[in-house]
Amino acid sequence: MSERIVGVIGGSGLYEMEGLEEVEEVSIKTPFGDPSDVFITGRLEGMKIIFLPRHGKGHRIQPSSLNFRANIMGMKMLGVQWIIGVSAVGSMKENIHPGDMIIPDQFIDRTVGRASTFFSEGIVCHISFADPVCPALSQILAQAGEEVGATVHPKGTYLCIEGPQFSTRAESRLYRSWGVDIIGMTNLPEARLAREAEICYATIAFATDYDCWHQEAGDVSIGEVLRILAQSVRTAKSTIRTAIKKLPEKRDCICSEALKHALITSKKLIPEKTKKDLEPIIGKYL
Ligand SMILES: [Zn+2]
Repeated sequence: MSERIVGVIGGSGLYEMEGLEEVEEVSIKTPFGDPSDVFITGRLEGMKIIFLPRHGKGHRIQPSSLNFRANIMGMKMLGVQWIIGVSAVGSMKENIHPGDMIIPDQFIDRTVGRASTFFSEGIVCHISFADPVCPALSQILAQAGEEVGATVHPKGTYLCIEGPQFSTRAESRLYRSWGVDIIGMTNLPEARLAREAEICYATIAFATDYDCWHQEAGDVSIGEVLRILAQSVRTAKSTIRTAIKKLPEKRDCICSEALKHALITSKKLIPEKTKKDLEPIIGKYL
């Protein structure tokens, strides 16, 4: 059996993982270009961890410019089976308070023009995406969050906007009428690509503020938001440390065989270059 490997994609405020042992930096070139940064590999609680700061060290890359395909392909090439995303989000519901943890189970897409499939060059793939995150990993993260004392919302709809600007008040009111719970800019492309790569994906999201819809909460100071962000990053790290001890020896969720019936193109018609580029993902089906 291959070694269990967990990927962590750190968002705003989470640029490194303390406590890693046997730390190494691994630079990867993918057929889809360069990932956000070098991957940091190491061990945590005996488990192999691959860490990537989503926006690069020093937070250099804005959401629309992120090479999501290179980030996820890099994880796949390093043998990652689970990815835990960490994200700061805005709350769209009164009962989701700044500092609360949300494990989104649904998404709505308001991005434009992001490359969010690996299957475009002479190959067609229609994966099932009704349940866009890994149910097993989500449950583990929610449990771990409770155990470390976070206020956890185990489900929620994440609205993914293009950014980098936050919403207007009219947009924020419209999104609230759709019933969404949180708003962010990065997690949906990651979930799509991870599913295509047959990697289990789930997110720990932390509400840092009430977007701009909440009139009374409107004058929260930037100092308060930064305090909540720092506290959320500490909680995220202890949640991850607790969660990885709960991962199963072997995956039996939908994610690990997501491509089984999804590759539509006749194998003999797939271009050689595409076969080579996608080998880490589709090699086992060719
Ligand atoms: Zn899964």
